[in-house]
Amino acid sequence: MASQLAGGALTGEGRELAPRAGEPGDTGPRVRRPGVELLDVHKSFGAVAAVRGVTLALEAGAVTALVGPSGCGKTTTLRLVAGFDTPDRGEVRIGGRAVAGGAGGAVPPERRRVGMVFQQLALFPHLDVAGNIAYGLSRTGRAERQARVAELLELVGLVGYERRRPHELSGGQAQRVALARALGPRPDVVLLDEPFSSLDVTLRAGVRAEVRSILQAAGATALLVTHDQEEALSLGDQVAVMLDGRIAQVGTPDEVYRRPVDLHVAGFLGAANLFEAELNDGVLHTPLGLVAVPRGGSGGVVTALVRPEDLDLLDIGPDEGETDGHGGAGAVGAVGTVTAVEYYGHDQLVVVALAEGKPVRARLHADRRLQPGTRVRVTARRAYPLP
Ligand code: ATP
Repeated sequence: MASQLAGGALTGEGRELAPRAGEPGDTGPRVRRPGVELLDVHKSFGAVAAVRGVTLALEAGAVTALVGPSGCGKTTTLRLVAGFDTPDRGEVRIGGRAVAGGAGGAVPPERRRVGMVFQQLALFPHLDVAGNIAYGLSRTGRAERQARVAELLELVGLVGYERRRPHELSGGQAQRVALARALGPRPDVVLLDEPFSSLDVTLRAGVRAEVRSILQAAGATALLVTHDQEEALSLGDQVAVMLDGRIAQVGTPDEVYRRPVDLHVAGFLGAANLFEAELNDGVLHTPLGLVAVPRGGSGGVVTALVRPEDLDLLDIGPDEGETDGHGGAGAVGAVGTVTAVEYYGHDQLVVVALAEGKPVRARLHADRRLQPGTRVRVTARRAYPLP
């Protein structure tokens, strides 16, 4: 597939080349002054408040995935870090130094030591792979440039491809060229804006994993903007969920998925079954059974989140569950009827209408054969109280 992807290195003056590979002091293609901070940053376009008081710290050497629905302000946030937009209020710091909104005035994009990988920009079609990667290194001496290109080709696994033109590459290979080009001048931070959205689905998972390991090998501080929850959870060391111009939650992928701060974050990050439950002495009393909560606590009536993969379905006979005095609900779970099955190959989503009419979604192994109309008893293996 011809690529729509490109890397553009913005790093400009003040570049110091790190020691060459194998030389004393060489720690690999590592970022040495990392870390990005946004402090109460605001940005409006006319009446549209795109970014509304964002405070966010990108951990040095880690990938932060900024995820949220379309129009929530992700790209604007990235542009504020890159320097393409200027905050109306607040401060942006890179490597501890204010680049916007601070006392020293705004640092222009080309002096922020930022590398970018976009979805839309093409690689230079008239340059081969080596030429594209070398593009951001034009101020370096020839020998050093060649050595750095060789190092980057190694890093992204494209040794032997240096003379190919972009149209002779697969989408995934082109993506790696874009990344190598962005990493070339050893930027303090790499910004990736929806970098996988032009790849077809079969390529995407593999390319994501490659990009992640390249960023890790480079020790890069990276900000990845995506609207794709799966991408954010699989790629981010840290995930920042952005809703309506604000950061709703920041945490590890597991924290934001398992312990969302509210219903909006819970719902955005994946299918969420929600139930009224009672939390007493570390046990959640849900309509799907009693579930111990690792963190314990007693909160009275709470909303319990049950992810689809945390449900079990047990086939039952047509009359079972009618006479337990709870309408099928209680410590042993709730009775319901399968209404739909969405098959995905690796697994399936089964929709069950509970006796009281509420639909729940369960994710099961694809081997399990369930037809609409089957009666089942639904139990929860795990449940989390929302704050
Ligand atoms: P998407 O996932 O669709 O790219 P996003 O989360 O990246 O969305 P932004 O592109 O940051 O969102 O846009 C946030 C809001 O600001 C949107 O309402 C958008 O229409 C508006 N906006 C962004 N840039 C401009 C601009 N230059 N002029 C006017 N409005 C803008």
